[in-house]
Amino acid sequence: MSPSDLLRQMAEGKLTEEQVRGMMGRLVENDPVLSQVLQVMQRQRQAAPVDPEPESSSATATRRARARARLEALLGELDELSRRMRRVARALGACECLGDEPDCERCHGSGAPGTFPIDRRLFAYLVQPAIDQQSNPMANSNPQMEVRQ
Ligand SMILES: [Zn+2]
Repeated sequence: MSPSDLLRQMAEGKLTEEQVRGMMGRLVENDPVLSQVLQVMQRQRQAAPVDPEPESSSATATRRARARARLEALLGELDELSRRMRRVARALGACECLGDEPDCERCHGSGAPGTFPIDRRLFAYLVQPAIDQQSNPMANSNPQMEVRQ
């Protein structure tokens, strides 16, 4: 199940809290980006002021609309990250889980890079430049640029 599928099912109330916790744990273990998103969400939730007054129905509706918009934005971001991950996995000849997930429906944890035929076009676009730089570090076209980790 992809992160966005999980969020959709959560939003629709189709999963028990225990199911959600188990799936989130597995997703977060293998996805540093998702792990950071969840940490930020948790901090925001803890920092949110507790409202002692009961809300009017229009305030509740506004809050729900905002929450829905935030969820939609997150789902959009997750879809984009998933799409990017699929391209990287195809370039590497790997399953989308990179062979890290024993519960993966496609590979059962055996889809590490090189397992499947690589997508040569994506390999040339995403991987070859990194190999070129590794074989000739001085040829780096933009040495001023640092990668944020
Ligand atoms: Zn897999």
